[in-house]
Amino acid sequence: MKIHEYQAKNLLKSYSIPIPKGTIVKNKKDAISIWEDMKGIPLVVKAQIHSGGRGKAGGVKIVNTKEELVDYVSTLIGTVLYTEQTGKDGMPVECVLVEEALKFKKELYLGFTIDRARACITMLVSSEGGVEIEKIASQSPEKVMIEHIEPLLGLRDFQITRALLLTNIDSKYLRKLSSISKSLYRLFIEKDCSLAEINPLVITEDDEIVAVDAKINFDDNALFRHPEILSLRDYTQENHLEVEAAKYNLNYIKLKGNVGCMVNGAGLAMATMDLIKLVGAEPANFLDVGDGATSQMVKEGFKILLLDKDVKVIFINIFGGILRCDTLARGIVEAAYELQVELPIVIRLEGTNVEEGKRILTESGLSLITAKDMGEAALKVAGALGLTS
Ligand code: GDP
Ligand code: MN
Repeated sequence: MKIHEYQAKNLLKSYSIPIPKGTIVKNKKDAISIWEDMKGIPLVVKAQIHSGGRGKAGGVKIVNTKEELVDYVSTLIGTVLYTEQTGKDGMPVECVLVEEALKFKKELYLGFTIDRARACITMLVSSEGGVEIEKIASQSPEKVMIEHIEPLLGLRDFQITRALLLTNIDSKYLRKLSSISKSLYRLFIEKDCSLAEINPLVITEDDEIVAVDAKINFDDNALFRHPEILSLRDYTQENHLEVEAAKYNLNYIKLKGNVGCMVNGAGLAMATMDLIKLVGAEPANFLDVGDGATSQMVKEGFKILLLDKDVKVIFINIFGGILRCDTLARGIVEAAYELQVELPIVIRLEGTNVEEGKRILTESGLSLITAKDMGEAALKVAGALGLTS
C-alpha cells in the first residue's frame, strides 16, 4: 500500500526526522490562511499523488506571492497529473502540500528497500539526490552506496558510517545523518515497509538536515497489524477496478495490453501471461478468481474484466479443482446476460465437473471460442486479435 508525501512526512516526524513546516491544503481558503500563518515567506506547493516524478511533471512549484500561491493551488486541485510513473491515465490531485520553501546547499538520497534476490533489507545512500536519481543510479551506479542488512543483526553503525563516508558527504554531518538513517530503518521495520525513501534529504544553508520529500510503501500482507497505517489509505489514488475486485475477495491486477484474463491460481495466471506473450499479444489484466469462488464471485469478476476499456478479447483459462467448472460457467453466463458481452471470449476449461460446465456454456447460446488446451487457446486469442497470419 502507498501513502501520500504529507502522510509519510508525518510518520518521519514521529520518528524524530526533521521535516519542513507546512500543511495540507484543499481549497483557496486554506491557501490564504497558510499564507497568513507563514508571514509571507516563500512557499513550495506540492501536488499530493501516489507517484514520484512530480517535480519534472510540473507538480512542484515555489511561489513568492499570495496571488501566485492561490493561483497555483487552484490550478492543481481537481486536475490529473501525468508523471513518468503514473502511466497514461495519470492521477487525480485532490489536495496539495504547502510548505516553507527551504534554501539548501545539497540534495542527498537516503532509502531502505527490500532486495528480494538476497532476501534482506538494503540501505541506499547517495550524495547526488534529487529528481535525477534514477538516471544516476543507472548511468553512474558507483555514486549510490549500498549496504545489505543482515536480518538477524539489523543495521550496524559501521554500515552507516561506511556508506556515508564513501559518498563524500562532509563528515561534520555524520552524526545527524547517522541518527536519521537509524530512525528511518526503525520506521521501516516497525511499520512493515517495503520502501522508505527520502529524496531529497537536504543540507540547508544553515546546516540542518531536512527531509524535503518522502515516499513510504507498506507490505500489504502486514497491514492487518497496522490499523493506523490502513487508515491512511486513499482509494482515489488506486485503480478503481482493483479496488472493486478487492471488495469481492478477488485478485485483479491491471496491466498494459488488451487481453483480459480470468484464471484460477497464481501459477496458472503466470503461465497464461507467458502464453499470451508467446503468441505476440499482451495481457490487459488478470483476474484470479482463486479456489473458493462462488458463481456470484465469478460473475462480479467477469464484470470487472468487461469494465476494463482496454480489453479487446477475453481469455478464460480455468483448471477446476476446488473451484468447479459448473460453478464457473454459471457465473460467466449470468454476467454475460446481464452485460450483453460483444467481445470475443476464448475459453479453456479442464478439471472437476468439466462436462457440466461445458454443457452450461453451450446451452447458454453465448458465442464462445472453445479450445481443448492452453496452447490452442492462446493461438485463438491471437486469431481473435487478428495477429495470426
Ligand atoms: P518528486 O519530483 O515527486 O520526487 O518531488 P520532490 O518533492 O522531490 O520535489 C522535486 C524537486 O523540487 C526536489 O528534488 C527539489 O529540488 C525541489 N524542491 C522541493 N521542495 C523544495 C524546497 O522547499 N525548496 C527548494 N529550493 N526546492 C525544492
Ligand atoms: Mn522526490
